[in-house]
Formats: sequence, C-alpha cells, structure tokens
Amino acid sequence: MIQTERDTARSNRRAERDRLAELLSTGILDTPSEPEYDAITRLAAEYFRADTALLGFVDASRVWIKSYWGEAVGELPRDHSIFEMILENDGPVVVPDTSLHAQFKRCRLTLRRLAVRSFAGVPVRAENGAILGALFLFGQQPRLNMVVDQLRVLESLAGLAASQLELRRLRNEFQAHLPRPVPPARRGDAWPDPLDLHQALDRREFVLYYQPEIDLLTHRIVGLEALIRWRHPQRGLIPPGEFISLAEETGLILPIGDWGIAEACAQMQRWCAEDPSQRSLRVCVNLSARQFAREGLADHVEALLLQTGISSRQLGLEMTESSLIPNPSTAVEVLGNLRKLGISLLMDDFGTGYSSLNHLHTFPFDVLKIDRSFVGRMTEGEQPLQIVRTILDLARVLGMSVVAEGIETEEQYHLLRQLGCRYGQGFLFARPMTVEAITPLLHLPGRVLPAFEPARAAS
Ligand code: C2E
Ligand code: MG
Ligand code: MG
Repeated sequence: MIQTERDTARSNRRAERDRLAELLSTGILDTPSEPEYDAITRLAAEYFRADTALLGFVDASRVWIKSYWGEAVGELPRDHSIFEMILENDGPVVVPDTSLHAQFKRCRLTLRRLAVRSFAGVPVRAENGAILGALFLFGQQPRLNMVVDQLRVLESLAGLAASQLELRRLRNEFQAHLPRPVPPARRGDAWPDPLDLHQALDRREFVLYYQPEIDLLTHRIVGLEALIRWRHPQRGLIPPGEFISLAEETGLILPIGDWGIAEACAQMQRWCAEDPSQRSLRVCVNLSARQFAREGLADHVEALLLQTGISSRQLGLEMTESSLIPNPSTAVEVLGNLRKLGISLLMDDFGTGYSSLNHLHTFPFDVLKIDRSFVGRMTEGEQPLQIVRTILDLARVLGMSVVAEGIETEEQYHLLRQLGCRYGQGFLFARPMTVEAITPLLHLPGRVLPAFEPARAAS
C-alpha cells in the first residue's frame, strides 16, 4: 500500500516536472500582454456574457495572468487557487453557485479579489495533453446552468489559446533552422529601373497567368489564382519576384494592381460568356500593402464588377498579414467594405508572418492560405506537420476555409487530406498557365482534373 502511494507521488511529481518543462518551452510566462490572447478573453466574455474572463498559465508557484477581460486580475499565488481544481480534476470545472460548493472554500485566495458567485474553467493543454493553464469565466451572480451546455465552445476557445501558443513555438524553432534568405542586391544600375516598369505598363507587356485551386476531395477546380508576369520583348518572361518590390517602392504597383484586377475580372467575364457554368468559379488577385493605403479601393473594385458584369462571389483578393500592419485601421475599414460587396478575402502565406489570432479575428478574412514553406517540408519531419495541423485547427475554430499552397508531391497531398485540409494548389495539379493553356481545363466535365480522379485519390 505504502509502496503504491509512493509510486503515485513519484509519478505525480514526474508529470508535474514534464508539465513545467512543456510550459517553459512555450516562453509564455512573464511576457507582456498580447492582442491575440486578449481577443480570446474578449470573445469568451462576450459570448457567455461573463463579468470577467481570464486566461492564465500555471508554473510551480504562481498563476501568470496572460490576459483578462472585465475586472483587473494580476499575478496570483498558485496555492489554493481555482487552477488547482483544474489540475486536480484534469479537466473542466463548472461551479454554478459558489455558496453551495464545499470545495470552493479552499479556493478563496484567487477569488477574494473578484466578487465571484459562479465560475467555469477549462484547461489549456499542450500537444501532449499537459495542462499549461486555463481559461476562466466568472459571474457575479449564481448561474445554475452556467456554460455546462456550452462547455464545448469554451473548450474551443481554450484550444485557440493552445494553438496560438503552439504555432508560435513551432514557427520560432522551425525558422531558426531555415537558411536565412539573401535579399536581392539592388545596385544603382540594377535592372529593371522605374522607367522600365512605366514602359512595360504603357506597352502592355504585363500578362496574367492562372493557377488552379483544387478541391482536394473531388479534384474539381474551384478557383484560379491570377499571377502576374512581365513578357519582356528581349528578356523573355519575368516572374513577379523580380519587379513587384520595385513597383511597390515606386508606387507603380497602384496602376499595375488596377490593371491586374481589371484584367482578371474581364477574363472571368469572357469565360462566363463562353460557358455560363463558369459562374461558380472564383478568380483571386494578389494585392500589395500600397493598394490598401488608398481611399476608395472598394468603390473601385465595385465599379470594375459592374463594368464587367461578374458577380462579387467570383472575385477573391489575397493579401499577406504583413501588408495590413502599416495601416491596421484603414485595412479593417477597406476589408470591411470589400467584404460587404461579397468579395472573398484570403490571407496569403499564413504561418510566415505574425500569424496572429487577433489579426484573424479583427480582419474579416474567410480563407487562410498555408504558406508553401510548411507544405514543402511537411513530409520531412514532425514539426512542419504540426504547424500545418495547428493552422488547420485554428481555421476550424474560426470557421475559415484553408488552401494549402505549393503541393508538389502525392505524399504531401495525401497527408493534407488526412489532416482534413479541403483545398490546395501546387505544381502537382497544375502550374500557373496562360489563358490559352488553362481554358481547356475549365471545360473538362465538372472541371475535374483527369490525372486526379476521385477513385485514384481515394485509394
Ligand atoms: P503568392 O501569392 O504566394 O503566389 C504563389 C506563388 O507560388 C506563385 O509564384 C506560384 O507560381 C508559386 N507556386 C505555386 N505552386 C507551387 C508549387 O507547387 N511549388 C512551388 N515551388 N511554387 C509554387 P509567383 O507567380 O512567382 O508569384 C510570387 C509572388 O508574387 C506571389 O506569391 C505574390 O505575392 C506576388 N504576386 C504575383 N502576382 C501578383 C500581382 O498581380 N500583384 C501583386 N501585388 N503581387 C503579385
Ligand atoms: Mg497569393
Ligand atoms: Mg502565397
């Protein structure tokens, strides 16, 4: 008997040591407040109409409050805190009326600061199941049915906190191992110079290539991404990587970008005129930061839609998170107006930048595109795979759909399907192509790519 108790104590100590090591690896303790965690407490408090919501992480002796909404709560001693109840229970705790709860007396230390009559808490867990902290809701009135029915929603919100934490940790480690990108050298005489770009615009040397976006279950082409190229009379086909940053620096991205949206809408209109079944197709155009700083982007896009007669459901706009940061309030307004028109908004290259939950919550995106650096390395190790899994979890909770970029191998394709990723694009299906090359693919029965018939995919 004594032996068993000793064993239990020893294994508890071991579990606690592992838990603390896991917590330490997240680097969440003693860090300043971050908007993504505030977004979680705010969401939780608003959803449940709680007086206070708090998100805290628990080390050996204290509870580090990462974010609170409602009444202010600072760092707390761990002893006799309600977090002990979560740890002891190894799961959610709901106390609809504290006056009827015997165990509650032990927990006064945490709650004395708040006039609490009811509370609910769910653990925030690491990938391996270890409890890192908890998300709590407090009510000043007893609420007999407090969140019992909706515990799943609260658990999803705690899951969001865990995903956000995990994503940060993995990405930091992952990026530490990547070779540092060498920025392209721009000498004074580097080609192209701004005049070359001006001339290219005047001489109509820019063209759009289109890459299909596929439903991974059916292999149906659901959309196209428009990707700009410069058809230089002497130098041949120039990829965007060689001129977009100069266009951004010089402001020429504004007329080039306008041309791109207009051209994509006009092309879509031509496809629909030839074949009305193409109305279910969406064309997505990439936007640069500069295009947001400008007044009236939504009006301009609306005018283009009217001019070409295509529906707003047929247009998507892709942008990276970092392009929204210089002017977040303008971006929220512009994106809101675009969204009101019914245009899809896709967050491009997700995972590489801030990957902030707050941005996902504040900006009205409906699609996340997982950056191809993760998809490309997914089969190489557990870590990039975890990042993809975490992004998919995040998107699921937020009700967004996901497109995986850069699928090149069948192995990546099968893994993505196993993880529940619904959409993808990549060289495995099709490279970016000219209008002439892509049009026959759009005329395939059901727009299903022949090399990827469902029967083969299912095997
Ligand atoms: P992006 O929007 O993330 O576009 C995806 C890039 O990945 C494209 O490169 C595409 O050709 C490439 N790609 C697609 N599938 C695969 C694959 O399986 N493997 C590999 N290795 N690559 C794949 P691209 O066309 O060179 O464009 C690069 C970037 O230039 C785009 O990244 C986008 O940020 C920018 N861009 C392209 N067109 C425009 C445009 O019209 N306006 C603006 N502002 N930016 C553009
Ligand atoms: Mg893109
Ligand atoms: Mg991308």
